[in-house]
Amino acid sequence: MITVLKPNTTAEQRDHLIHWLEGQNVQVHVSEGDEYTILGLVGDTSHIDMELLQSLEIVQSVKRVSEPFKKCNRKFHPEDTVVDAGGVPIGGGCFAVIAGPCSVETHDQIIGIAESVKASGAKLLRGGAFKPRTSPYDFQGLHATGLELLAEAKKATGLPIVSEIMDMRDLDLFQDVDVIQVGARNMQNFELLKGLGRTGKTILLKRGLANTIKELLMSAEYIMAGGNENVILCERGIRTYETYTRNTLDLSAVPVLHELSHLPVVVDPSHATGHSSLVPSMALAAAAAGADGIMVEVHNDPLHALCDGAQSLTPEQFDGLMKQIGRVLEAIRS
Ligand code: PEP
Ligand code: MN
Repeated sequence: MITVLKPNTTAEQRDHLIHWLEGQNVQVHVSEGDEYTILGLVGDTSHIDMELLQSLEIVQSVKRVSEPFKKCNRKFHPEDTVVDAGGVPIGGGCFAVIAGPCSVETHDQIIGIAESVKASGAKLLRGGAFKPRTSPYDFQGLHATGLELLAEAKKATGLPIVSEIMDMRDLDLFQDVDVIQVGARNMQNFELLKGLGRTGKTILLKRGLANTIKELLMSAEYIMAGGNENVILCERGIRTYETYTRNTLDLSAVPVLHELSHLPVVVDPSHATGHSSLVPSMALAAAAAGADGIMVEVHNDPLHALCDGAQSLTPEQFDGLMKQIGRVLEAIRS
């Protein structure tokens, strides 16, 4: 971290600041110029409060030269990480499609969808049992029963399952769940992240509606700092001034995340667009942009879905998309 002091800083003020910084376990290298004094902070500066430092009267500017995320940082781990998602590898050239309904609704619904997405080539089945709904009056998911039905679909098809957790107190219910999802609304629920960091579960961490890429990586860091390095990042669109689409899919997040981190990156074109007609193009674009997978909502009867019917593909539409995805992957690999 580099700190530039204002030209009129006295030696006493400078030494006082150095003493304060050294008290926080960093070494301070001083370089006196004609006009400015530059302090180079060496060591683990992740705990230094940059805003506080910047607010001091004698400080002109503060700049981090290394990112505060370490475990997910590509600089310290140049090779792509391949995460095991219930036996399915994701990352490092292994592309996986996660598909299924927004919410688990009935036995026949989830088994039927699981069978059809498997036949089309999906590698994992998704289905929400704990739903983070904007309105408390909307369907909240089937909770424990939903997870049981999802586990039955896993047994029937062999597909590993992905489902969202909202509260660590429910963790015991997730024993059969292969990939635990942290939804966009909980990306910065730090207690949840810390709790999941203490488990050995694979985590699919979705980007928050109004969070930066670096904030997403800091949230991944929370999980990894607890000892759980099985993290998959997910871009699912962010809030902008555009209202035509449900969110704005930030596809550039894919190469940016690959540049900054070794973790796999998947894209959710369903929540990103909110319209089933837009999902295939964005799914193909995600594959072309180098994503390690996509997560797509599929429903056997979108018109009557209890949640997110408008953005759900029918099994037939999903089947068509899978064929196109295969061709895009072939094209970018050849
Ligand atoms: C979901 O995937 O079911 C979901 C609620 O998505 P998000 O958290 O991205 O809104
Ligand atoms: Mn949904």
